[in-house]
Amino acid sequence: MKIHEFQGKKILSDFDVPIQDGYIIENLESVESTIKKVQQDFNTKDVIVKAQIHAGGRGKGGGVKYASDLNSAIEHTKNILGMNLVTHQTGPEGKQVNKVYITKAFDIKKEYYAAITLDRSKKMDVFMASSEGGVNIEDVAKNTPEKIIKVWIDPNEYLDDEKGKMLSKGIGLPENIQTSAVKIFKNMYKCYKDMDSSLLEINPLVETEQGDIVALDAKFNFDGNALFRHKEVLEMRDLTEEDPMELEASEYNLNYVKLEGNVGCMVNGAGLAMATMDIIKLSGGEPANFLDVGGKANADTIKSGFKIILNDKNVKAILINIFGGIVRCDRVANGVVQAVKDLGLTVPVIVRLEGTNADIAKQILANSGVKIIPANNLEDAAEKSVNAAIKEN
Ligand code: ADP
Ligand code: MG
Repeated sequence: MKIHEFQGKKILSDFDVPIQDGYIIENLESVESTIKKVQQDFNTKDVIVKAQIHAGGRGKGGGVKYASDLNSAIEHTKNILGMNLVTHQTGPEGKQVNKVYITKAFDIKKEYYAAITLDRSKKMDVFMASSEGGVNIEDVAKNTPEKIIKVWIDPNEYLDDEKGKMLSKGIGLPENIQTSAVKIFKNMYKCYKDMDSSLLEINPLVETEQGDIVALDAKFNFDGNALFRHKEVLEMRDLTEEDPMELEASEYNLNYVKLEGNVGCMVNGAGLAMATMDIIKLSGGEPANFLDVGGKANADTIKSGFKIILNDKNVKAILINIFGGIVRCDRVANGVVQAVKDLGLTVPVIVRLEGTNADIAKQILANSGVKIIPANNLEDAAEKSVNAAIKEN
């Protein structure tokens, strides 16, 4: 789960990471009064107007603007609030900006980068830092990766002084702020770990002209399976930022991720779903989604699955791949037939059922009177689905 920058900063400040705070604007009525409040409370004329969306690259996309007085701040806010912001992370369709954050503008001396995530190959957390922070960090990673310093941390421990110093020295922080930087890095890691984050990124972490270090941006990802331990984070969830079909699927207890291809998949079990996507690719096609219907593949779940898959206009064929263990294939077959009838489906449906009562299931499908393409095995199913999708195109 992701959260907004202003929410991330709240969490960081709870862990004693210095941030620059501000106020949120969600409607036009409060634009002027809120900007005035920021100017007054933070004793500044200069403010930064920042779009709040669950994606980075806002600065380059035009969602972060500097204003030196009230009127230009109002103008920027009105332009940004409600705009469709396109960044390299939103995809070409962009994201609508529903919240704008007004903060004090800092005199930046230098922008640094600091981030923590999990390094699966090393089974450790990795702390990355760079002297080249700011909006071009992707280019730094691509062209001069040696400018990103990394230290690995055993997830059973915390960041110690030694590794903290390796980071602060490695990115060339001036002597006089190294002690505070080490403290910030240690607090960042404590925050990342104690909050069960899978990513914590501060970019930029700045050194100000006054000699302070402050987090000007905050990006968090959280491990969804650990959110039951963090009610305060769950309360930060912003459903308007999430994919509507993925949300609907979670209401039906289906595990759905939209992808770019045209072969829809409905599968029981995450492992089998991955294997199904692989074999579609091997057969020359592209999966339109990942969909795990879980243990209960009955008529209702299958119907909900069809609805979710068909909401994606790219889908030209649907492959149902169910392994009948506890859920018997004959019940699944009845469910498929009923769902196809109830929804009046016109997209070709290819069905591969294997396991308990698979033979009875085949009979049910063959005698159903609805157009279902049976498959003998997984390869056959994938090939038939890819071919059907090509024909429909
Ligand atoms: P994003 O990473 O989505 O582009 P950031 O919050 O990092 O958004 O802002 C982009 C850039 O805007 C920063 O790298 C920094 O140069 C500038 N910036 C952001 N907040 C402030 C601020 N409070 N004062 C001065 N400059 C800022
Ligand atoms: Mg940033």
